[in-house]
Amino acid sequence: MSSTKPAGLPELPSVDWVLRTPAAADLIERFGRPASTQAIRAALQEARAALRAGGGAAPTAEDVAVRSFARLDEESRSTLAPLFNLTGTVLHTNLGRAVFADAAVEAALAVMREAVALEFDLASGKRGERDDHVRGLLRDLTGAEDATVVNNNAAAVLLCLNTLANGREAIVSRGELIEIGGAFRMPDIVTRAGAKLVEVGTTNRTHPKDYRAAVTAETGAILKVHTSNYRIQGFTAEAGTEELARLAKAAGLPLVHDLGSGVLIDLSRYGLRREPTVREVAAAGADLVTFSGDKLLGGPQAGYIVGRRDLVAAINRNPLKRALRVDKVRLAAIEATLKLYRDPDRLADRLPTLRLLARPLGDIEAQAARLLPHVAGALGDAFDVEPCACRSQIGSGALPLETIASAGLAIRPRGGGGRSVEALAARLRRLPRPVVGRIDDGRLLLDLRCLGDEAGFAASLASLAAAPGAAP
Ligand SMILES: *Cc1c(COP(=O)(O)O)cnc(C)c1O
Repeated sequence: MSSTKPAGLPELPSVDWVLRTPAAADLIERFGRPASTQAIRAALQEARAALRAGGGAAPTAEDVAVRSFARLDEESRSTLAPLFNLTGTVLHTNLGRAVFADAAVEAALAVMREAVALEFDLASGKRGERDDHVRGLLRDLTGAEDATVVNNNAAAVLLCLNTLANGREAIVSRGELIEIGGAFRMPDIVTRAGAKLVEVGTTNRTHPKDYRAAVTAETGAILKVHTSNYRIQGFTAEAGTEELARLAKAAGLPLVHDLGSGVLIDLSRYGLRREPTVREVAAAGADLVTFSGDKLLGGPQAGYIVGRRDLVAAINRNPLKRALRVDKVRLAAIEATLKLYRDPDRLADRLPTLRLLARPLGDIEAQAARLLPHVAGALGDAFDVEPCACRSQIGSGALPLETIASAGLAIRPRGGGGRSVEALAARLRRLPRPVVGRIDDGRLLLDLRCLGDEAGFAASLASLAAAPGAAP
C-alpha cells in the first residue's frame, strides 16, 4: 500500500508500514491481524482528518500502532466488567443485585467446566430432575411440602397463575396491584398468565368479605401480593394470610402469596426490620409462596415456588415451566447459596448481601477516613473531599422505608470553575474499573458500605489523573 498524501498535508505512514513496527507486533499478538489492520486503518483515518482540520505534525508509524492498541484495548473491555458500587444501594437492580457468595461462585465455576448429573440419577442411572438438587434444601428451609425454581420471581408468579387460573379468574386486592419497575405490573402479569383479573376492595382497605364476595365458579386462584416497594399507611386494612388461607380453603381455591423479596431467616438479628419469612407465610396456610433469589436471599437471579405438593406437580407439568427453568450454572450457585442458610450463625460472614447490610458503621467510617487522602490526592485542588454520614438502602424494592446509617465521602467542586459534579461522576464512570456513586445536593456521594476491595479502589483512583478528561 502506498503512503497517503493529500496535497499540502504532511505524509502519513501506510498501513503496511505501521504493521511492520515493533509495536504492531504486540498488537497482532494480542488482537490478531484482521482486527489490528482495521484498527490501524481507523487510526490513520482519524489522523488524516485531524491533519486536514488543524494541521500539525503527522504521527509516526509507531504512534499509529500505539493508538491502535489503545483503541482495541478499550473496545475489548467487557461492558459487564466489575465496577465499584458506591451508590449506597446494596441490592441495586441496575448493577446486578446480589453479589454471589464465594461458595456459590466456586460451585458455578465447577459445573461450567465439567459434565454434571443435572437431570440424571446417579443411583439408578436413570433420568433425574433438575429440581432434585434444591428441593430438599428448600423444603427444610421453608417447611413447605415441595419446591421448584425458575428464572426469576416474575416468572414464578406468571407460572403459578398460568397453572392455576388460565382461562379463569384471579382475585387480587386493589391495594396490592403493584408495579415493580421495568414492565412488571401485576395486572399485566395476571392477564399474560391467561387469567382474568378480579380486583377487590379499595386502595387502602380490603376485607376478607371482599374476597368472599368475589369468589365464583370461574375463580381459579386468590393472589396475595406483598407490597414490597411501597407502604400504605393510615386508615388501612388488609386480609392477612391466615384469614385468606381459611377463606380459600373453604372455597376450595388455592391461595398464592407473592412475597417478593423472600427472606428465609429473621432479619432483626442483623439490625433490619422484621419481615415475614417464607416459612411463616407457608405455615400461615398459603398454598404456594413465590419469592426472588437475588433480593434479600442474596443468591443468583431466580424465582422460587414453594408449597403444596400437588400444586408444584401441576406447575412442573406446565409446558411454560420448561421455558422458564434455570441452567446448571445458576442451579449450582443456588444450591451453594441455600446451603449457607443451614448455618445461620456464620451466614453474615459468608453471604455478601447480609454482610454488607450488617456491616458495622464504625467499620465504614474508618474506611472513609483511610480513603479520604487517596481520593483528595487523586482529584487535586479542584475538589473538596470530606467524610460524611449518609444512609444506605437495601434496594430492589425490599423494605423501601428502611435506610441504614452509613458513611462515605462527599465530593464538591471547589469554587465553581465550570467543574460540575456531573462531569466528575462521568469521569469516575470511565475508569477501567468504573466507580458509581450518587449525586446528592450538589455533591458526589461515595457511600462506602459496599466497598470490599479498598486497595483496588485506591489504585483505581490513582489512575484517574491519567484518565481521559482528567484535570489539567
Ligand atoms: C421484586 C418482586 C417481584 C419480581 O421479582 P424478580 O425476581 O425481580 O423477577 C415480584 N413481586 C414482588 C412483590 C416483588 O417485590
